[in-house]
Amino acid sequence: MADTTFLNWPFFTDRHRALAAAIERWSAANLPVGHSDVDAACRNLVAHLGADGWLAHTAPDPQAPNPQAPTPLDVRTLCLMRETLARHDGLADFAFAMQGLGAGPISLFGSTEQRAWLKRTRSGAAIAAFALTEQKSGSDVANLAMTAERDGGGYRLDGEKTWISNGGIADLYVVFARTGEGPGAKGLSAFLVPGDISGLSVAERLDVIAPHPLARLKFDRVRVPASAMIGAPGDGFKIAMATLDVFRSTVGAAGLGFARRALDETIARSRSRELFGGPLADLQMVQAHIADMAVDVDAAALLVYRAAWTKDSGAQRVTREASMAKLFATDRAQHVIDRAVQIHGGDGVRRGHIVERLYREIRALRIYEGASEVQKVVIARQTLAGA
Ligand SMILES: Cc1cc2nc3c(=O)[nH]c(=O)nc-3n(C[C@H](O)[C@H](O)[C@H](O)COP(=O)(O)OP(=O)(O)OC[C@H]3O[C@@H](n4cnc5c(N)ncnc54)[C@H](O)[C@@H]3O)c2cc1C
Repeated sequence: MADTTFLNWPFFTDRHRALAAAIERWSAANLPVGHSDVDAACRNLVAHLGADGWLAHTAPDPQAPNPQAPTPLDVRTLCLMRETLARHDGLADFAFAMQGLGAGPISLFGSTEQRAWLKRTRSGAAIAAFALTEQKSGSDVANLAMTAERDGGGYRLDGEKTWISNGGIADLYVVFARTGEGPGAKGLSAFLVPGDISGLSVAERLDVIAPHPLARLKFDRVRVPASAMIGAPGDGFKIAMATLDVFRSTVGAAGLGFARRALDETIARSRSRELFGGPLADLQMVQAHIADMAVDVDAAALLVYRAAWTKDSGAQRVTREASMAKLFATDRAQHVIDRAVQIHGGDGVRRGHIVERLYREIRALRIYEGASEVQKVVIARQTLAGA
């Protein structure tokens, strides 16, 4: 049983505590799912999470009384959901997270017409994807090359996107392309592109160490109406960064979920495994590992929920807090999981063992949505500017 004492911290309300208990019950009853066919598993997970109401937390309700002033996304809810799902099944966390990130630009900046899509992403009827990265612009977002040129009353999109989660199975993509209002980051715009649009194809499926649907996509004269643009021409970079600002701490929360699971597995293993005439947990060097893991988990939780609470308390931007949360929680989760593997001995590296799975699942989190080094650049810049 994972530690839940952190729920008593002042970051949370009774609503959060009730949600944490409910998603824990749901996860224990329904997860993990089989991972042999990740496309089918993700489709099923999105449908199941949607049918049981969990995806309603990933975007504001477009049918709320005032769609122009929607209820903001509750980042503590997103983090609690991700932490719990990740603790049970990385693929379930992925399916949940991508509905939020993929629809994020629409949630934050979409027109009333565009927001109609949220009804479908919240119910699980539509799968969402966020298409920013290109071959030559991963960390260097401002360098992206894909173009969106004026074409009659609309735009024509040409180019490629790569490393796109849900690529190939998504019903809607938020695509960032160069419209040229200014140089670099100032000349990008965001577009809502349906997955079945003519000219959009999967150029390559990408296989990674913890598989999920991932693809390189080709856009060949993809025509969208002017109403597909999210926000104003040239707003693309701002929209991408504001979306990541909300979702970045949730990546830390997923890392925290993996770390908590690794700690739980280590506690159970070190109590049950007999070595040198007693339980492994009696060995002081093992205790030192467990102490370090416990400190890392709590420190990561403090940073994640500090960032989430700050955003929920009305801060316009939480760039520094979210970067700290993502950097620390994902980096330390890697260490925690590595120690878990060590304490499990040979079983820790056995394919299919839970800590072996965690070891693979944590790695990409230190690369996507801003690599750890990029987070350090952001934190240093903000710290120097504030000093
Ligand atoms: C599993 C997975 C899922 C993904 N899903 C999506 C998605 O859904 N949508 C999407 O748009 N993208 C997605 N990405 C892409 C991801 O955001 C990029 O991989 C990431 O931004 C890094 O870009 P890159 O791979 O081109 O590496 P590069 O930009 O080439 O960077 C390589 C390395 O250089 C170092 N580095 C980079 N910048 C600096 C710096 N300023 N100072 C010092 N060192 C630095 C870091 O160690 C970094 O890992 C995904 C990636 C992965 C692995």
